[in-house]
Amino acid sequence: MSKQIQNIGIMTSGGDSPGMNAAIRAVVRTAVFYKMDPYGIYRGYQGLIEGDIERFTARKVSNIINRGGTILKTARSQEFRTVEGRKKAYEQLKKHHIDALVVIGGDGSFTGAQVFSEEFNFPVIGIPATIDNDIFGTDFSIGFDTASNTATEAIDKIRDTASSHDRLFFIEVMGRNAGFLALYSGIAGGAEEILIPEENIGIDKLVESLRRSKRAGKTSSIVVVAEGDKTGKNVFELAKYVDDNLKEYESRVVIVGHIQRGGSPTTFDRVLASRLGVKAVEVLLDGQKGLMVGYKNNKVEVTSLKDAINLKREINKELLYIVDILTT
Ligand code: ATP
Repeated sequence: MSKQIQNIGIMTSGGDSPGMNAAIRAVVRTAVFYKMDPYGIYRGYQGLIEGDIERFTARKVSNIINRGGTILKTARSQEFRTVEGRKKAYEQLKKHHIDALVVIGGDGSFTGAQVFSEEFNFPVIGIPATIDNDIFGTDFSIGFDTASNTATEAIDKIRDTASSHDRLFFIEVMGRNAGFLALYSGIAGGAEEILIPEENIGIDKLVESLRRSKRAGKTSSIVVVAEGDKTGKNVFELAKYVDDNLKEYESRVVIVGHIQRGGSPTTFDRVLASRLGVKAVEVLLDGQKGLMVGYKNNKVEVTSLKDAINLKREINKELLYIVDILTT
């Protein structure tokens, strides 16, 4: 392993997700293990531009593996979208003698990383962390497992009321552009229908399917709706439409909301974050850059940042297939 990098900067960027802290810990401790100096960069690219940077030790990341959110804070930065902003960021890195960067975030953060890395020929490695799980090159992103467990728990609790009162519940989970969270929590929570952005089943087909469920003897039903579903109606309008067209049910709406982003990460997310964090530092030490570390078929593998940004992670068709079978 060739070792040219001495100081590694680490940041979290974009939306927070549970397990980011475990990834920070892994990167910091791996850097220390390989006799490098880790630097925590606060508030994502904006903090970098403003020089909000601190030298970290292995002890700085004690007792954070179990905590949700990110001790580094996260932010969205308009300034980093400009050449002037990125120039300021580069100057800060030079000032602190940081010679490589690990960016923990989603595809927006990776786009910024890629632009920056090309502009200044600066080594950057991405670690995928988003509850949406929509990043190409990894089967799972850090935070998705925790968020889907939270959503499933919410569905389970709502089911108690749905079945006690013979009601139809529309439960909205996060996912503007991707339906992974809705699909996983919907399957795990035994939902009757799952509406995701990747598939447009059509609102009338939904009504028809709920009518069939009623005829088949179901007294209550749960429909899980991803934020970005393609019915063209928000979840309240959707519920009203169904109420108006299906008198047999009385419906209610629940928006699970931001509780999906918080909380102590699951074992899976902690282990994933730990594996990806170690690999990110080793990849940098190996002289590689412009890559994202990911998890494929139970192995840690790398993908180019370009592919991670530009290629679409497809929803698993087999999951859609089993939903149809299991909701009969
Ligand atoms: P999430 O999945 O939670 O939305 P994300 O990483 O995709 O996370 P974004 O808000 O899309 O979050 O991006 C985070 C930051 O990355 C932006 O605030 C901006 O500073 C930077 N960024 C995104 N796109 C670009 C770009 N084209 N050029 C430069 N910087 C960018």
